[in-house]
Amino acid sequence: MDVTLDFSGRRVLVVGGAQAARRVLARYLAAGATAYLVSETAGMPDPRVRVVALPRSRGGWSTLVSAVDLVALVEASPPNDQAIVEACSAERTWLTREVPAATGRTGQVTLVGGGPGDEGLLTLAALAALRGADVVYYDRLGPRDRLAEWAPGAEYVNVGKTPGHHAVPQVHIERMLVESALAGKTVVRLKGGDPFVFGRGGEEVIACRAAGIPVAVVSGVTSAIAVPALAGIPVTHRDVSRLFTVFSGHTPLSEDELAHLVGLGGTIVVLMGVGTLAHLASGLARHGMRGDMPVAIIERGFSDSQRTTIASVDTVVTTAAGVGARSPAVLVIGEVVGLSESADAAAVELMQAAATIAGQA
Ligand code: SAH
Repeated sequence: MDVTLDFSGRRVLVVGGAQAARRVLARYLAAGATAYLVSETAGMPDPRVRVVALPRSRGGWSTLVSAVDLVALVEASPPNDQAIVEACSAERTWLTREVPAATGRTGQVTLVGGGPGDEGLLTLAALAALRGADVVYYDRLGPRDRLAEWAPGAEYVNVGKTPGHHAVPQVHIERMLVESALAGKTVVRLKGGDPFVFGRGGEEVIACRAAGIPVAVVSGVTSAIAVPALAGIPVTHRDVSRLFTVFSGHTPLSEDELAHLVGLGGTIVVLMGVGTLAHLASGLARHGMRGDMPVAIIERGFSDSQRTTIASVDTVVTTAAGVGARSPAVLVIGEVVGLSESADAAAVELMQAAATIAGQA
């Protein structure tokens, strides 16, 4: 069941400490509700929240509960918990239990892989982490259009980088993550694709561990697989390619690496490879790759301006210059490119050839 409720003008009574209930309060406020808080402990909630005195009797709970549309129970001592449940049942008021936010002195950091830009490829774990965040550090490639819905009330900090221009240096990002967590916040570092695929996620984990901060990683869908798939290119395909190598084209490959890559065969996937494409194409050819080996350049995957360009090792540099190929793009080199939707005739031929080989085997 997928239900979206409109809370505008609705009264929601949240029960729990101001700290533990802060995310839940932020969510209901962001959804347009009037939020009331009953707390067994002291603490200052968001100034928009109306604080209500703790009822001393079952009758007191009934009066309170009957005056609201929904009760969100975050935490309560067992007697109060039971009184709330009974009051909601008697007054026929909706009751929901919600997860408390971290209240320790040290917060925590979760590195979240946001996938390649399409919100449909955000995982349930990513959404759950965002929902509980006090602060979200995000960058350019992950999904971010609906951050306000996914992490309502959180603070959003753009630490995005554009190619060749590091908006926020990596050490500063690490420092910000650590400082936010030391201030007791639940921190989400939202990254494009998977945090551990050229995302510098490892460095951020090490920085958190060094500062004694609990850190977790939520894997994401990597562009290395999802962006080729958009163009109809499977990175592996039975009898066509049984391995794929993913590398970063940020700096050029060495002669040794080029030689090994050609020797290995299979599919080659390059991220951050537009700037070093000429070096790569000539290097692959020099080490014996067929000149007519197909190459795909898929730019800005999952955006309105997504574009796939198909060429070959011999022609790709001229073709890329001709169409003005730019980052972000995923390059795919290998027979599987023949399976792409933009090369349907070639795909049929390749599949037939593969079927024939398989039939002979
Ligand atoms: N951690 C990321 C990769 C970060 S490196 C992941 O797993 O996907 C950044 C590079 O990823 C870009 O330069 C580009 O090569 C690729 N990339 C990421 N998202 C992309 C997209 N939506 N379209 C095309 N390329 C993308």
